[in-house]
Amino acid sequence: MVTFKQPKAFRAVDSALSEWLSSLVRWLPILRQKAHNLLRNSAMNNCEQTRQWLDAYLDNELDPVNTLKIEQHLLACAACLQAYEEQRALGQVTRAVPRYPAPAGLRERILSALRAESDPLTSIHSC
Ligand SMILES: [Zn+2]
Repeated sequence: MVTFKQPKAFRAVDSALSEWLSSLVRWLPILRQKAHNLLRNSAMNNCEQTRQWLDAYLDNELDPVNTLKIEQHLLACAACLQAYEEQRALGQVTRAVPRYPAPAGLRERILSALRAESDPLTSIHSC
């Protein structure tokens, strides 16, 4: 015996699915744009953070997790890799510049000036 309840149920499901699919199709471009914006903002944040941490990375001051984050970003981002290379080259140049000893007595003059500045009595007398 054939009942007509099943086709009605199927039609209802089919109608609900069609409605859901058409609303999904309407929202798809908006969702795609939102996902694209999220990914782009995330990449920009990674660039910003990488640039901020580049000095610390070059000086081996980062913890292993952030070191890995920087290295992964440098593998994927040509702009940050270029910034890294430039900063590394600049560091090599500045390390190669010869150092000159400070004039005799400079250290003691700076320290006594700092002591005088931090001592309120000395500050009052010097006015
Ligand atoms: Zn980057």
